[in-house]
Amino acid sequence: MAVYKIALLPGDGIGPEVTGEAVRVLGEIERRYADLTFALESFDAGAERFMRTGVAMPEETFRHCRQADAMLMGAVGLPEARHPDGREVNGDVIFRLRFDLDLYAGVRPVKLYKGVPSPLRDVSGGIDYVIVRENVEGLYASRTGGCNVRGEVATDTIIMTRTGIQKVSHFAFRLAQKRFGKGRPLDGKSMVTCVDKANVLSSYAFFRSVYDEVASMYPRVDRDYAYVDAMTLYQVMQPHHYDVVVAENMFADIISDLASATVGGLGMAPSGDIGDRHGLFQPSHGTAPSLAGRGVANPLATILSAGMMLDWLGERHGDERLTDAAVRIEQAVMKVLEEGVAATSDIGGASRTSDVGDAVVRCLQELTVR
Ligand code: ATP
Repeated sequence: MAVYKIALLPGDGIGPEVTGEAVRVLGEIERRYADLTFALESFDAGAERFMRTGVAMPEETFRHCRQADAMLMGAVGLPEARHPDGREVNGDVIFRLRFDLDLYAGVRPVKLYKGVPSPLRDVSGGIDYVIVRENVEGLYASRTGGCNVRGEVATDTIIMTRTGIQKVSHFAFRLAQKRFGKGRPLDGKSMVTCVDKANVLSSYAFFRSVYDEVASMYPRVDRDYAYVDAMTLYQVMQPHHYDVVVAENMFADIISDLASATVGGLGMAPSGDIGDRHGLFQPSHGTAPSLAGRGVANPLATILSAGMMLDWLGERHGDERLTDAAVRIEQAVMKVLEEGVAATSDIGGASRTSDVGDAVVRCLQELTVR
């Protein structure tokens, strides 16, 4: 009997609604595979907890997260929950986990599924690439360490280390190898694109030079480069050009949101924050307070994130059932979208959050288990 300990962090706003549907999908996976159990334990962390108690994430919860096999999160943060200096409290949870558990690779698949409206629907070959965000260095590493001199001058410092760039670059090239046989939609070429601003800042030139050193160890994967400003144009004009993209923390944050707009919006954008020992999976969206409590949020980004979690766990533990289950979850989501079984309003439908969860569970039931 394989038991996987999953720390569940539903969080704030629409977080609990979308994680609720992902949990139902995991329950269906348990039923479909013999001797497979997900020991889910839910923890109260986030902005509401902060407003109630003054602490967004207690140490005890952090310990449980560290000890779990994987973490599944909804979203944390509310605009009104702030520290006295004005910072939002979501960083107390998400940055704490990313930095202290060294979740150095932020993995954001960008995939346009059939049935999802997109201004780029007619791009030949479709859109299917993955952004790998350096998650623990870059400009955001300056968080709380910036300097404001008497309200006249403010600075933040970008942090780039050889080790950090090596780690995230290796991750991106290994991911490109995993995608052998698929590659970029344009022509199947296997490629890692380095996105930076190497023409202006020495920190980004350093990022590129370390990327190059790592690239030389993967001769079967092509190198590619784009300056971040041009990249935003290419993501719209020629998204089928990309296979795997690697970038510094803040740049990748920005190009990820743009990318999600090309594939149906934030409700369709899953993610994983992955390190060598820990993995945290969550939709790319935030807590969308205007949708909270109405049962209308799109749960697919969270359901797809749960699928990514199983794929990661499967690889890590050599458990093929989990790898298989991850494929089934994506297939079920694709069936729901392609056949128009259910869709929330952000992707052109009128279904409720739970209708979409129901539809994914039903499709999973129809898919045969090997
Ligand atoms: P954060 O600062 O936490 O990233 P944000 O306010 O910038 O949050 P989101 O909370 O992700 O961004 O939401 C922005 C908008 O995207 C929402 O108002 C909503 O219209 C849309 N959105 C986000 N997630 C979903 C979802 N799951 N389903 C439908 N629409 C969503």
